[in-house]
Amino acid sequence: MERALISVWSKEGLAELAEALHRRGVELVSTGGTAAHLREAGLPVTELSQATGAPEVLGGRVKSLHPAVYAGILSRRDPSEAADLQAVGARPIDLVCVNLYPFVEQVGEGTPLDEALELIDIGGVSLLRAAAKGFPHVVVLSRPDQYSEFLRRLEEGALDPGYRRLLAAEALERTSAYDRRIAAYLAGRPVGAPSTATAGAPESSGAGAGAPEGAERFPEAFSLRLVRVSPLRYGENPHQAAAFYHPPGPSRGLAAARLLQGRELSFNNLNDASSAWRILDHVAAAAPGQAAAVAVKHTSPCGAGVAGTLEEAFRKAYEADPVSIFGGIVAVNRCVDGATARLMDPVFLEVVAAPGYTPEALGVLGHKKNLRLLDLSGAAGSGEAAAEPEADWEVRPVWGGYLVQAADVADAAPSEWQRVTRAELDPALLPDLRLAWQVARGCISNAVVVAAGGQSLGIGAGQVNRIDAALQALERARARVPGGDLRAAGAVLASDGFFPFPDVVQAAAKAGIRAIVQPGGSKRDEESIEEADRAGIPMLLTGMRHFRH
Ligand code: 5GP
Repeated sequence: MERALISVWSKEGLAELAEALHRRGVELVSTGGTAAHLREAGLPVTELSQATGAPEVLGGRVKSLHPAVYAGILSRRDPSEAADLQAVGARPIDLVCVNLYPFVEQVGEGTPLDEALELIDIGGVSLLRAAAKGFPHVVVLSRPDQYSEFLRRLEEGALDPGYRRLLAAEALERTSAYDRRIAAYLAGRPVGAPSTATAGAPESSGAGAGAPEGAERFPEAFSLRLVRVSPLRYGENPHQAAAFYHPPGPSRGLAAARLLQGRELSFNNLNDASSAWRILDHVAAAAPGQAAAVAVKHTSPCGAGVAGTLEEAFRKAYEADPVSIFGGIVAVNRCVDGATARLMDPVFLEVVAAPGYTPEALGVLGHKKNLRLLDLSGAAGSGEAAAEPEADWEVRPVWGGYLVQAADVADAAPSEWQRVTRAELDPALLPDLRLAWQVARGCISNAVVVAAGGQSLGIGAGQVNRIDAALQALERARARVPGGDLRAAGAVLASDGFFPFPDVVQAAAKAGIRAIVQPGGSKRDEESIEEADRAGIPMLLTGMRHFRH
């Protein structure tokens, strides 16, 4: 790399980039403002107007539009082109770094036309287009957030064609989004508010005014680079092709799991195991020092247990719903021992996920050739992997696009739960409330969970209204306790969403539920609180909901 053309509106990260290029002997060529900035940073820079012999004119509206520039970018580095290059005074340009006038950031529906026209970048868009076309020979940087990866690759000599092509695609994404926005403005279509609150401050690239907290974590455009872990035999159904990918860098999570026995993992196995492990994590955190087991079917929990020993915890998870666990996935938070393995042996399970297995347990389960035993002891990964910006993003396809959100990792600590009833909570019921809450959090919404004695007794999940979820949970719970007496069992109830009507509390009271936890936040909270007080049931509000749709 010998020559870089840098012409940027946002000077973010510019000095570091230029400094690193200079250190490697790359000549820096820049338009006026960028050149001034680089000189201030103490870097030698050639003014583009000097290189071309054509001054910037019309107040900067024409600065880089010169044949020498485009010939330098579009040259195929073929000796046969030498005469042509000489004819226009061009020398090859190996890197083009441009970011555009802030039309998107500063122009909204109400912006006067003359101001908007001034903010239409001409030369920058042309440079990006030319450099994208020239990617076999040219690296094109179109956003400051690309600089660090570029510098890393420059250092490692890894500016391979695949990477350059990706950058070319990103540059064209940028120019096309930019032009679409200008077209919308000119056509009088809604363009929304300018995307920076602080118009006139080109360096700021924050989220739009009024954007929710954290939205600045989601850039205007990003590309997700994924590495295939393995092809899968098929997807959710046999006619759907599928594969498993992970982000580059050290493997973690299921990409780092060791399959100790059993057939290869299927799409559904991976999907369910991921869900099971997440729910187990939450359930175990709510029962410090205890063994925990969670059984999952179709990504929703069907049984959960916490106890002093793993054997006991698994027994509870199994007995919570011995029907649904058939063909399910079990996740446990302790090394599977012989006693637990003997309990698992007669149950038809697809997958067991654990932080390890004793030799005795492996001996007991070894004859079950189809049972997949996953060792997740190395799954947490290194802190390095967590530094990947996309590591805690959830991506979901919708018609015509993808929704991206931060993973649901936050939770309200029980010390922040607020009792809203006159009826007081018997502290002995708190562990079961915590268990029920975590299981409900792991369910597909709407969900209501009844628990007692460190065990989920009834789970009503994936319902399209809350009362049906509650009735299902209560019905299932009643079937699990002697005489259907939930009061004597000390059963408690949790809901993943708030109560818009008092009907769930009424049903809970009728069934003998001893305490309720729910997020709160309904306009009609008061009706449910009054109902709970009438029935003498303490109710706590967490102030935080966990929907899974
Ligand atoms: P500078 O601050 O270096 O003077 O200008 C940098 C900005 O000018 C960049 O945003 C770049 O996209 C833009 N630019 C580069 N060449 C031209 C040109 O010929 N015409 C116009 N209108 N903008 C240009």
